[in-house]
Amino acid sequence: MFPQEMSSILFICIWSMASVGVGLFCGFFIGRFFTLSNEPKRIKKDRETTLNALLAVMSSTDRLNEDVDSHNVALQSAQKELETMESDEQFEVLQSALLSNISRVVKSNRKLENDLVVSRFKLEHQAQELDRTRKEARTDSLCNIGNRKAVDETLQFMVSRYQTEKAPFGLMLIDIDHFKRINDTFGHQAGDEVLTSIAKALKECVRPEDFVGRLGGDEFVVILEGLTDETAELVGARVRSTIELYDFSINNSGQSTVVTMSMGLAVVAPNDDAVRLYERADKALYKSKQLGRNRLYTISECETELKGRPQISEEETAGKSYEDFKASFADAHLDG
Ligand code: GH3
Ligand code: MG
Repeated sequence: MFPQEMSSILFICIWSMASVGVGLFCGFFIGRFFTLSNEPKRIKKDRETTLNALLAVMSSTDRLNEDVDSHNVALQSAQKELETMESDEQFEVLQSALLSNISRVVKSNRKLENDLVVSRFKLEHQAQELDRTRKEARTDSLCNIGNRKAVDETLQFMVSRYQTEKAPFGLMLIDIDHFKRINDTFGHQAGDEVLTSIAKALKECVRPEDFVGRLGGDEFVVILEGLTDETAELVGARVRSTIELYDFSINNSGQSTVVTMSMGLAVVAPNDDAVRLYERADKALYKSKQLGRNRLYTISECETELKGRPQISEEETAGKSYEDFKASFADAHLDG
């Protein structure tokens, strides 16, 4: 009987520890959600529901601990009585006390088991909901790829991983050429369709582990895993030529256009943080636009060295980003 009682308590303790583990796990996610500012109402509701489920597990665990404590006291007193037992009657009294104790443990055990199964089910459901909400918050609703938030997080993660594991990667910035004209000529709806097909094409022409996102407007980002200075030019050119094979042309009421893109590529380097790497890729994109658009420009770690192309000087690119470029060059200057 004694070992049976002990195994019951052991079982309860294991459940208790498991539920505390689940609690801590969920607490971690809940903690993360507390730090989000301006979170939508649904996230708040999800958080509250998870919190309630977590509190239910915690109160089950509390009850469990109280039960274990009281059964421990009963067992200790039974053990003392056993040591001092002198007659059969005393043995029978003790036996019936132990039996009733065991039956109470089994009963409370069953109840706790049910409580924990229900709580676990609720927590799993909430975890799935949180995951769905998290994905939604990082997805561009038009193109169904990563949005700016996802781009920022992925880039930060890749840079950190590079610093610790030396896993190289490349950052490619892509901007559609003269997209405003496409909107103006064919309408916003046609523009949206072009954006959607470009996102789809980009997804198709990179590997599943590569990241594709949209920064907003007509700007896209591809993060290419495993890219090094040696392979950048080749892989970048492959992506560009594959994209070139897609037909994004628009035909509408006798008018048609071919959609082209400019791309800037930079490979992560030892002294990079996300901002530095992004600035380099942005400079490459700027250069790609400046050289006549519809091309890929690869820029290496030391920002003045360019592979297979004329070098650009620091003065030429200093302080200039693609945004500056857009602001300082009129379309008329670039078409010729
Ligand atoms: P460049 O070759 O220099 O990149 O010229 P551009 O016309 O592509 O550059 P600009 O950044 O001036 O134009 C981007 C346009 O994209 C302006 C904006 O109206 C349009 N745009 C931004 N977001 C969306 C969107 O979600 N859908 C559509 N259809 N157009 C958008
Ligand atoms: Mg553009």
